[in-house]
Amino acid sequence: MPELPEVETVLRTLAPAIVGRRVVAVRVRERRLRGGVARGFAASLEGRRLGSMARRGKYLVIALDDARLWLVHLGMTGQLTLAPADVAARRHDHVVIELDDGQRLTYNDPRRFGRLAVIESPALAAETGEGIDPLDETFTAEMLFALTRARRTSIKALLMDQRRVAGLGNIYTNEILFRAGVRPGRRAARLARADCGRIVAASRAVLADAIRRGGSSISDYRDGLGREGWFQLEHCVYDRAGEPCPGCRTPIRTRVVVGRSTFYCPRCQR
Ligand SMILES: [Zn+2]
Repeated sequence: MPELPEVETVLRTLAPAIVGRRVVAVRVRERRLRGGVARGFAASLEGRRLGSMARRGKYLVIALDDARLWLVHLGMTGQLTLAPADVAARRHDHVVIELDDGQRLTYNDPRRFGRLAVIESPALAAETGEGIDPLDETFTAEMLFALTRARRTSIKALLMDQRRVAGLGNIYTNEILFRAGVRPGRRAARLARADCGRIVAASRAVLADAIRRGGSSISDYRDGLGREGWFQLEHCVYDRAGEPCPGCRTPIRTRVVVGRSTFYCPRCQR
């Protein structure tokens, strides 16, 4: 948490409000985020105009008018929210960015696994990882089938490996494999081409539904304007051990795969 749909929702809620704005001031109150907030971070944002905003896997990428890129990774509990400047500060507001329209962009993160950095544009792939985005049109059955060959890991581990597929975490991997009818623990190399086709289709469907509902608010997640998402109410298997499968009423089972709680229907998923 947050995964692709949550980051996409932050992007969609923030972009219309901040693209084109100029950064007036940056206050870094806590540098101990993942990798540390660089000494020059505030200086490299101050005075810059925020250009286009995009998502790459779980990273937000904001183009600056000096051709550099501002990267934001929300880690496990990060929130990047926009509010009027007179809104009261909260605990864990680690970085506060004042914009030229009087609004304030705040990075809050109780567990501090998130990351904020300004990088040179050519370093983007190296900084964010090369994994394919499951919403990209190049993520096809053929492509996934090729990725699965000669992999000794489970399909769940492969989908969660950010160097191969960028943006999926534990929640959406569980949901996607349920919708695809594939057991999370199955060896990736043993999947048929048709299984890969169903996983690709399920990825698009689950992620699109989740984005439509503003993501899943399991713990701290909020969108760019501080609102909760609602997709957790639509989860078919995630965190539903013992509850009836929405397809066949068999109780959902749980076991640990790739070190994380995994949920599946023993009847619908093979
Ligand atoms: Zn079932």
